[in-house]
Amino acid sequence: MAEDCLFCKIIAGEIPSTKVYEDDRVLAFEDVSPMMPVHTLIVPKTHYDNIADNIPDEELGYLMNTVGKVADLKGIRESGFRVIVNTNDDACQSVHHVHVHVLGGAPMNDGSPALNQ
Ligand code: AMP
Repeated sequence: MAEDCLFCKIIAGEIPSTKVYEDDRVLAFEDVSPMMPVHTLIVPKTHYDNIADNIPDEELGYLMNTVGKVADLKGIRESGFRVIVNTNDDACQSVHHVHVHVLGGAPMNDGSPALNQ
């Protein structure tokens, strides 16, 4: 657990969240400020600052494979969804614990950077 990390505190249950999926390696929870009808975040329980933080291949693969589970749980596998991983300042990463945004539930603009609003 990294000190002063919001998502580490959510994983530890110190800050409440609306859980979508959890196992021993990942947690998926609803974004507190949803930008789409479906806006779920997936985080690894191990702290990494961002997707370029030398995450072991197996861990990163597990994280990304959780996207499909979340899409099923949220009912958006067939309709479609967008996955975004903001990384550092130019991409407006605000929480420096790697997280995958899963966005869907309505049509999106083609190629729009959905989180840059
Ligand atoms: P990013 O800007 O890519 O770092 O995304 C961070 C996301 O975390 C934003 O979409 C926030 O709305 C979301 N967020 C911040 N605090 C919380 C919280 N306590 N619970 C759930 N989501 C949060």
